[in-house]
Amino acid sequence: MAKKNLKDLNVKGKTVLVRVDFNVPMKDGEITDDNRIRQALPTLKYLIEQDAKIVCFSHLGRVKKAEDKKGKSLKPVSEKLAEYLEKPVTFIPETRGKKLESAIAALKPKEVLMFENTRFEDIDGSKESKNDDDLGAYWASLGDIFVNDAFGTAHRAHASNVGIASHSEESAAGFLLEKEIAFIGDAVNNPQRPFIAILGGVKVSDKIGVIKNLLEKADMILIGGGMSYTFLKTQGIEVGTSVVEADKLELAEDLLKNAYGKIVLPLDFKVTKEFSNEEAVRVVDVNDFKEDEMGLDIGPKTMEKYQKLLKNARTVVWNGPVGVFEFSNFSQGTIGICQTLANLEDATTIIGGGDSAAAAIKFGFEDAFSHISTGGGASLEYLEGKELPGVTCLDDRT
Ligand code: AMP
Repeated sequence: MAKKNLKDLNVKGKTVLVRVDFNVPMKDGEITDDNRIRQALPTLKYLIEQDAKIVCFSHLGRVKKAEDKKGKSLKPVSEKLAEYLEKPVTFIPETRGKKLESAIAALKPKEVLMFENTRFEDIDGSKESKNDDDLGAYWASLGDIFVNDAFGTAHRAHASNVGIASHSEESAAGFLLEKEIAFIGDAVNNPQRPFIAILGGVKVSDKIGVIKNLLEKADMILIGGGMSYTFLKTQGIEVGTSVVEADKLELAEDLLKNAYGKIVLPLDFKVTKEFSNEEAVRVVDVNDFKEDEMGLDIGPKTMEKYQKLLKNARTVVWNGPVGVFEFSNFSQGTIGICQTLANLEDATTIIGGGDSAAAAIKFGFEDAFSHISTGGGASLEYLEGKELPGVTCLDDRT
């Protein structure tokens, strides 16, 4: 059933609690990729326009012990948010207590407050991550309405999403959450055909659920990345020192057997002798691996074949880079997939978060796709056909 969205709410003068996903990569206190902050702006700007009092919050990294707090404050994020909103954002370095409560009580319509990393509540008994009921109830008591816009954590039932929703009188999806669900949900459940999936990344084991679900829904699955070698190994192909999951061979063989020919494996590879960008690189056909060579990217014949197969696609979902894109010698395959998808004229193209999203953004394709998901784990679970607790917990639209 469709969930309530922002437009279903009357937020004027109300205190709206907004769970955003500001779990952004940081280095030495600097945000290195602020995509998730930018993606949350439509919801926050809409609430400002509608005269809401806005309290936003997020987790940032993992915090299990007091020492883990170092470098995990959301203060720099609140400063970046203020820049994008072009208005002050009051940052309260607490997750509960008098100071936070009085600051929220003093908010005026259109004002924005952000409180500290919700995972600081994990130090004493994982209250946030274990969805402690009292914590959810407390956070819910700080506002009138709950809006969840954090797709990246929607696959987890935490106090800051499911907990708050279960204690709020009214809850709804933010624009980003709604957009993610619409794009990924439509692609998988109601795709324009041909519907082609591209799956890469290191391991088959991380993507078993996705492969199984997509085998039922997609017309074809193009495989790249480290997971190729486990599949090839089941065919008796020698893949040198490439990553192979020895304990997943049987499973990979079963997947291939039940794929009705829908799984397409690479024909050639770029190989080298060390997991490094410094060694000599060779292009080899699938049967020509030397014992001491590892495949770190798909080769040009594979690229050509995948380009042909993708040419008429109307829906493409991509999860996982097809090579070690972090090394310039092995980024060509992933860049080639980006280019191919960017050139498709009549297709919905979706990148399912994580490393493939990071790669697409790194190589300058940020605006070239219909949708780049902000959630790695969440989009994988959604592609697997699982329900996301952070969505299920929201009010249904009546
Ligand atoms: P995942 O998180 O499973 O999507 O995996 C992403 C990672 O897979 C990236 O860091 C890539 O460097 C890595 N990767 C892609 N292809 C290979 C490969 N052939 N061998 C080892 N790692 C790979």
